Amino acid sequence: MQATKNAQVLLKKYFGYESFRPHQEEIIDCLMQQKDCLALMPTGGGKSICFQLPALMLPGITLVISPLIALMKDQVGALKTNGIAAEFLNSSIPQNQQDEIFEQMVQQKIKLLYLSPERLLSQIDHFKNHLNPSLIAIDEAHCISQWGHDFRPEYTQLAQIRHIWPNTPVAAFTATADKTTRKDIANQLKLRDPKLVVASFNRPNLSLEVRFGIKKKKKIEEITAFIKKRKAESGIIYCLSRKSTEEMATELKLNGIQAGFYHAGIDSEERSRIQDDFSNDRIKVMCATIAFGMGIDKSNVRFVVHSNMPKNMEGFYQEIGRAGRDGLPSDTVLYFNLGDLVMLKNFNEDSAQKELNNEKLNRMVQYAEASICRRIILLAYFGENMENPCGNCDVCREPRSTFDGSILVQKALSGIMRTEEKIGINLLIDLLRGSHRKELIELKYNQLKTFGAGKDLSFAQWQQYLLQMLNRGLFDIAYDEGYALKVTSFGKEVLLGQKKVDLVHLEEVKPYEPFKKKALPYEIVEDSNNSLFDYLRGVRRQFAEKENVPAYIVLSDATLKELAKQKPISISELIHIDGFGEFKIKKYGNTFVKEIKNWIGSNESPTVKIDTYTQTLHLIKKGYSVQEISEKRTLHETTIYSHLAYLYSKGEIDSLEAYVSNNDINLVKEAVKQTKEKKLLAPLFSYLNEEIPFHVIRLCLAIIQKEEREEN
Ligand code: ADP
Ligand code: ZN
Repeated sequence: MQATKNAQVLLKKYFGYESFRPHQEEIIDCLMQQKDCLALMPTGGGKSICFQLPALMLPGITLVISPLIALMKDQVGALKTNGIAAEFLNSSIPQNQQDEIFEQMVQQKIKLLYLSPERLLSQIDHFKNHLNPSLIAIDEAHCISQWGHDFRPEYTQLAQIRHIWPNTPVAAFTATADKTTRKDIANQLKLRDPKLVVASFNRPNLSLEVRFGIKKKKKIEEITAFIKKRKAESGIIYCLSRKSTEEMATELKLNGIQAGFYHAGIDSEERSRIQDDFSNDRIKVMCATIAFGMGIDKSNVRFVVHSNMPKNMEGFYQEIGRAGRDGLPSDTVLYFNLGDLVMLKNFNEDSAQKELNNEKLNRMVQYAEASICRRIILLAYFGENMENPCGNCDVCREPRSTFDGSILVQKALSGIMRTEEKIGINLLIDLLRGSHRKELIELKYNQLKTFGAGKDLSFAQWQQYLLQMLNRGLFDIAYDEGYALKVTSFGKEVLLGQKKVDLVHLEEVKPYEPFKKKALPYEIVEDSNNSLFDYLRGVRRQFAEKENVPAYIVLSDATLKELAKQKPISISELIHIDGFGEFKIKKYGNTFVKEIKNWIGSNESPTVKIDTYTQTLHLIKKGYSVQEISEKRTLHETTIYSHLAYLYSKGEIDSLEAYVSNNDINLVKEAVKQTKEKKLLAPLFSYLNEEIPFHVIRLCLAIIQKEEREEN
């Protein structure tokens, strides 16, 4: 518990975040107890903090092993802008500089070192003799498993670290791993009774849409129109072939869009220059093969379009996951043609794992052809049940009619159970339809009760219904057991009659009608020249250029949005903005506060500024609690507390008695006397043994300041 309290202080101090995202605290706690951990979190879920914070709290150094060399520079850059000693080692750094970094490391001057597995393994003795890391974090851990979608043989050598540093806890992270892969990762890395953390893969801020059977010319027209609607925003267009990335980029440029292309055929120097241009917003739209993106940490990618069908769900999810990491609404569109399918099947013919790859491709097709909420399918694929349709996918916007399919489901699932979950899909359909196929008879499946229970449906109909069931997460396919079907716990509940399931009428699965799009449930970010957000983007850009880092590393879009909404005009207000840690407040605080004041001065009458506070005041006077106001206004509770402090200091509220006790005020007074940095909450919080919450300290400070003013 002490560990997590301390972690919370450091989270604010170094990263400027007020609270943890789901599971972050749990993982940090586990690592601080020296336990191994296997964490599955979606892209953008916030994995980095899970090992960066323990690295700050533990003595000595943390090694971060990642195959994504291109990402290291950005991640280390981001750590440095937050005042954290981090470095990376890879071939892009000259030898003498590498020696220097190694020396600093031995002298314990570095808290986090990023490096690739090859790098570590090629000099393993050197590392072994000079370092004893406190923690080893392994990113993209699915690369170690042949069941994953991105197997890298060099990763399998990583098992050595267990022998070399037997006492160092190992934390494995991945954004994609089905159950088979999960087991394999833990085995291969020799994790010791690891804590398994599976975060929700739901990314509600990403809209989902599939467009089927659209011809090439029309597709390009649609994509162009789509991008033009989002003029100031960044996005990625994934294409199947190198040639098509170039064609797409040319088309877009002809339409006045700042587009570039990227594929593995471009030499590596040029590739990293292109990535840099994208990160720094010099190229707005990147037309790329899937080689692009692994090295992209840009948090404000606003859309991802797949102009062709992806190979599998893991890849697809990772690719769309590159949009909206900052949590703001972002759009994803998948185009798919039968031609794509033929081409992908062809690729698979030559692959070493043909059968597995084809099966994974099938799941992708099933997703694209689905007639129920796409997010339900996506999450079911990653082993998660979502009960209600999402409202932010094309199917939800144009729902199909359904019927209670529980009986149909029970027939199918009991077929699976009665064959001891050893049966595959086609044989199951034969069983349900009572076929006299030789294989069925040999296995004595014709003696089962479910034999022929689904005679009334054709093979093709069963295929479609089973597809819906699979997509609903009622059963799963075990790739490592000859594609045997396994009933999930959700499936068992339906089988026992404890839950009902709706299925879509097959005749309702209509051909796709392009461009029929209802209003989105959220506002589209328009390109307006006079918004404060855009103004602040300009301010951020200047810092980015001066420091030679991407703009989103200076401050994220989410932080700029928050600034534009809250309009803080003093450092004490700025402290409440998510994303401003101590280091960034010192570095950028004054400039942003000044620029916001400037902007308000020239764009708004002074009364507008008071507006957000007045709204809160209004609700307080009506008797609403802070929590209720926070919900009503969709603002953080901490923000409402800061409004209270402001309103109190302006004399709009007479007393804060309802929120703080005299005892708290006295304690904070004493703490203010004893600590030098009066304005910063974190030192006060620490001084007070972390026993008084931030928001209470904040209110006490308002009271103390008012008393001081009155005394003077
Ligand atoms: P992942 O590695 O899982 O894809 P990151 O670690 O890059 O995700 O985090 C994604 C984004 O979320 C980053 O911009 C990061 O700064 C932000 N973030 C992480 N943790 C928090 C938090 N507790 N509060 C607010 N933002 C966070
Ligand atoms: Zn949906």
